[in-house]
Amino acid sequence: MTSTAKAPPLYPKSHILAASGVAALLSLALLVFPTREVEAKKTYLNLELDNGSDYTEQPGDSASLAAETPQSPFANTATTNTSAADELKTTHVVAPIEADPLHQIISVQNGDTLSTVFAKVGLGASTLHEVINSSKAAKQLTRLKVGQALEFNLSPDGQLESLHSKLSDLESITLAKSETGFSFKRELVKPEVQTAYSHGVINSSLFLSAKRAGLSHSLTMDLANVFGYDIDFAMDIREGDEFELIYEKKVVNNRQVGTGNILSARFTNRGKTYTAVRYTNKQGNSSYYSANGESMRKAFIRTPVDFARISSRFSNGRRHPILNKIRAHKGVDYAAPRGTPIKAAGDGRISLAGRHGGYGNAVIIQHGQRYRTLYAHMQGFAKGVRTGGNVKQGQIIGYIGTTGLSTGPHLHYEFQVNGVHVDPLSQKLPMADPIANSEKSRFMQLSKPLMAQMDKEKSTMLALNNQR
Ligand SMILES: [Zn+2]
Repeated sequence: MTSTAKAPPLYPKSHILAASGVAALLSLALLVFPTREVEAKKTYLNLELDNGSDYTEQPGDSASLAAETPQSPFANTATTNTSAADELKTTHVVAPIEADPLHQIISVQNGDTLSTVFAKVGLGASTLHEVINSSKAAKQLTRLKVGQALEFNLSPDGQLESLHSKLSDLESITLAKSETGFSFKRELVKPEVQTAYSHGVINSSLFLSAKRAGLSHSLTMDLANVFGYDIDFAMDIREGDEFELIYEKKVVNNRQVGTGNILSARFTNRGKTYTAVRYTNKQGNSSYYSANGESMRKAFIRTPVDFARISSRFSNGRRHPILNKIRAHKGVDYAAPRGTPIKAAGDGRISLAGRHGGYGNAVIIQHGQRYRTLYAHMQGFAKGVRTGGNVKQGQIIGYIGTTGLSTGPHLHYEFQVNGVHVDPLSQKLPMADPIANSEKSRFMQLSKPLMAQMDKEKSTMLALNNQR
């Protein structure tokens, strides 16, 4: 069967980059051009985004600060040498307009615990005990964050009626007095998902230009990952490179609370334009494909360890440091600190996860019928990694160590094609599968309108720029 397997298309080595390494490379790119001026061109069109003022504190926060003022040491010092009238005046400046002792909002300060917060509203240890032990979920209340607002409702006799806290724009928790004690409820707001378009021209690094174009750090990382197999973001980026994308933004009450997936993108690097469309197949797996349906990712990532240094290359004859004999080195060594995660280079089935002679703790992965990768000298295996199991590309399989015949912490990595050892660094990596023929028309129904929409947004944007 193996002889009938179709040879994969070949791609130049320089164009292949493990998406997983992009994070490190981006940071590098940022360091390389730290001071040059960046100008990302006009970004948002028709899609008015929130400005910074929407991200300021909630109105409730001022009330919560005021509620705490009577306990503030400043209140005491300020009134030490003043008359009662002055004291009243001083207090009035900061006190809540309607102080309601039965409804108090406490803003969590540095060093606060649920116990100290309870004390501020006059609730004692027995109530605290009752609350925490009312349910397993209620223990979440003990995980306080500085600035978090806790809204207390008390009964006229000072007993806790309810406690409410908004953890984020999307999540809030409520504890309420019930007949049996307290009931705890966690509420999730489902954000509305809208799409946004963004465009930028790179004058220095992708990071700076993307920031100027209004993209968050994580969205920029996503963009780099989408094109990470084709563009080396540390080496290949040039002034004038251009990117545009349509992505999901999450909105609650007309306020952007986050972003979702990149739906489509285009990246022009040194005059060559790459396209990407996110597609979820009928099995429910999402992946990026070029606009005409080729896979964006390769079947293998180039380097199974991030932040590693190649300490020994593939060779057909070298002196083994321990055996002191001339021996072929049938793999590549990556030196990295003990405990650094090692990732599966591609999807596959684990044919071995265990001790393997001089390899020490080793994992061997079979990728289809043609390819096999081996990872040696591991300190240990990742959870769930065992012989006979399946792994996904990029999944952590174990950690750098120095088990077996090894002189120091490193990964010894081997790559086999049809049972023959090859140099993984010179190997032309095969593409992952393109869109299945049975799904091609469904894919094109998604891809074409997205590309057309980017064309339209861009020409509108250029027209607007020309008017200025
Ligand atoms: Zn080695």
